[in-house]
Amino acid sequence: MSELLELTAAQAAERVRAGEVSAGELFELYRERARGDELGAFLWVSDDDPPDTPPDAPLGGVPLAVKDLFCVKGVPSAAASRILEGYRPPYTATAVERLNAAGAPTLGKTNMDEFAMGSSNENSGFRPVLNPWDRERVPGGSSGGSAAAVAAGLAPWAIGTDTGGSIRQPASLCGIVGMKPTYGAVSRYGMIAFASSLDQCGPLTRDVTDAALLFRHMVGRDRCDSTSLEFPEEVRLPKAERLDGLRFGVPPELSGEGVEAGVREVLDRTVKLVEELGGVVEEVGLPHSPHGIAAYYVLAPAEASANLARYDGVRYGPRKGNGDLLSLYEETRAAGFGAEVKRRIMLGTYALSSGYYEAYYGRAQRVRTKIADDFRAAFERVDLILTPTSPTVAFKLGERTADPLAMYLSDYCTVPMPLAGVPAISIPGGLSDGLPVGIQLAGPAFSENRILDAAYALEQAIGFDGSGARV
Ligand code: GLN
Repeated sequence: MSELLELTAAQAAERVRAGEVSAGELFELYRERARGDELGAFLWVSDDDPPDTPPDAPLGGVPLAVKDLFCVKGVPSAAASRILEGYRPPYTATAVERLNAAGAPTLGKTNMDEFAMGSSNENSGFRPVLNPWDRERVPGGSSGGSAAAVAAGLAPWAIGTDTGGSIRQPASLCGIVGMKPTYGAVSRYGMIAFASSLDQCGPLTRDVTDAALLFRHMVGRDRCDSTSLEFPEEVRLPKAERLDGLRFGVPPELSGEGVEAGVREVLDRTVKLVEELGGVVEEVGLPHSPHGIAAYYVLAPAEASANLARYDGVRYGPRKGNGDLLSLYEETRAAGFGAEVKRRIMLGTYALSSGYYEAYYGRAQRVRTKIADDFRAAFERVDLILTPTSPTVAFKLGERTADPLAMYLSDYCTVPMPLAGVPAISIPGGLSDGLPVGIQLAGPAFSENRILDAAYALEQAIGFDGSGARV
């Protein structure tokens, strides 16, 4: 194995800048790795000539794996759905364009749950993804391809999207770092929409420094996304070694019932580490967060039912039917969407229908407001919130496919943050029975610098070794 594969993306970029390796060599090395993918992580790998990256480019020519729901000009971009098979967008998503421009060329498109609906990657319209720590287990979802690719060393770094946990949960199950930024911090332009008031793009990386580096080059207002905002400060590369003066709140609602013993142990160990590093840990309530899953599974499907109305066989992807308009719609959608996507469209359409709108959608919106209020109150007392990322380690393929509710509970700890619009990161906290356990840190809107600093200090203290997943 090339020793280049041992490097984080930031270290590889340093080597390129120092002239010790060329960006082209690095691209070729990872292209070969991605082509040899046995995990199902990639849906498409670039066969372009390695781009000519200027040696002083901030991202050093280090190639980037991109979740399949980002539009990339001329490249298959299907959000892992059969209904978009063959679609090659005429433009590139802003986040991808910014990262390409900063010197991270697109290596390939990664597998995912269809339209980002899922927690295990088993809902991909093409094939599932295997967890590199144990190939009988899921990598998490929906950004499972991005997480597995980074963990296995098939890509130096990746981007994904998080609507209810889709960056943080797969990062946790694959033993890597994943951050969901503040809503609006990164442009959603060119991201195939799932639930527009929740979707956010973010990094999946080997370590916290790589996450900060990628994040730094995708943030900021974009005139193509009216919900995007200028980030109020410069995104710094983290360097904190201590946590002195920082107050951490552990919400009992997200760390008690339903959390596996091995996960709880890692959380307890992390709390001790926080204290050793000078941080103060206290209990802080997020009383409405247990209702997050219920509210999310009304709001996200409602938005999805509207966003997915455009896939009607007229404008994108394969067309079915026997000539009349109704059969064109019906048969295209019947053949093109997978079972989970259909379930969400039905749930969402029902929740928005006249007579039920107030009882479901209106009520879920009020719960969402209460969850956001809980976070505001908590952040008056503490600087950061500390929870497990996922209540369990990676589960077996097929284990939860027959039971949508069990699958939905995978996101119990990650769903409240996007409902409140606040940022959160997952970092590897250790292993339980040989499988990675993620620890989540959340902070107020635009506190990414604080989150990254604290995550970095903890990362150094934890000293997690991810080499067990490298293939
Ligand atoms: N697993 C959650 C869902 O199925 C979250 C997905 C996501 O964040 N995109 O909706």
